[in-house]
Amino acid sequence: MRDIRIFLFHRVSGNKENWTHATHVSIFEKCIKYIIANYTVKTVEECLAVKGSLLHGKAKPLACITFDDGFKDNIIYALPILEKYKCPASFYMITGCIDKGLPTWPHLYSNIFENTRKMKLVINLPELGINVDKHFKSTLERIQFGIDLVKKIRFVPPQDAETILDIVKQNFNDVEDPHNMMMTWTEVKQLCESGYPIGSHTHTHLKLTAVKDDEQLKYEMVHSGERIKELCGKFPAAIAYPFGLTDERVTKIAHDAGYKYGLTVGQRAYNPGLDINLMAVPRVDIYAERSWLKTNLRITGHIETIKKIVGR
Ligand SMILES: [Zn+2]
Repeated sequence: MRDIRIFLFHRVSGNKENWTHATHVSIFEKCIKYIIANYTVKTVEECLAVKGSLLHGKAKPLACITFDDGFKDNIIYALPILEKYKCPASFYMITGCIDKGLPTWPHLYSNIFENTRKMKLVINLPELGINVDKHFKSTLERIQFGIDLVKKIRFVPPQDAETILDIVKQNFNDVEDPHNMMMTWTEVKQLCESGYPIGSHTHTHLKLTAVKDDEQLKYEMVHSGERIKELCGKFPAAIAYPFGLTDERVTKIAHDAGYKYGLTVGQRAYNPGLDINLMAVPRVDIYAERSWLKTNLRITGHIETIKKIVGR
């Protein structure tokens, strides 16, 4: 059976300097134009429902477009392009972020480090291994420090990330939380009424494989699905695991929660003949490459081929 390439996007932005690494809207348009020209595009949900076998066009292979997280820029920049090229796509929401109207904590960090005018940062948290006493010489240095800090604490328990965030906020107390970064429920509803499947990306975007408590795991997935059901009328068919991470326990709980499909990140195509576990379907993250050439290599999969050849 022929492969299906399931592409993953996150943010799409009109701002080239955006340090949270959004795909620039001009590159995004090139992606969609290229994908529509070279693939038959269907939604993941359609493809997985028939295991892809019936949907292949005569000449073109199948592809799907997905968006994780639920950023408002998807509506502002991506949706008009999807409409222009009549390109189907599915959107996976972090329902807790839609509820609160705020992005996950790494984005709260980025917002602060990017927008503060202050240059001095002191964090004294030896119990978390964080000791900082810095006077930044430039805005760029401060922003880079923010990026490195988020990388360092990416997988700490959320309450620790929030403790650190509180202290950063005390230092940089001249910045407001970014209240307009996420879609609203009204926008989510409009998306689903326009025929774009809405799925879950959990309630709070935890690294699910690290959550020890089964009840908490269940809540992340069930509650998220129910929030979507309340607004869109039906429990979502698919869940996209945060960071693309899953294991046997997580997929079982996701399946028991009512999901038919689970989406991971595998940087390879989904093969309906070989990938028989529909709760762990691989996607290709396009990342936010700055060049069209590199983005195109990701779409075609040539970047993986090159990596194999050079042994990386
Ligand atoms: Zn995510």
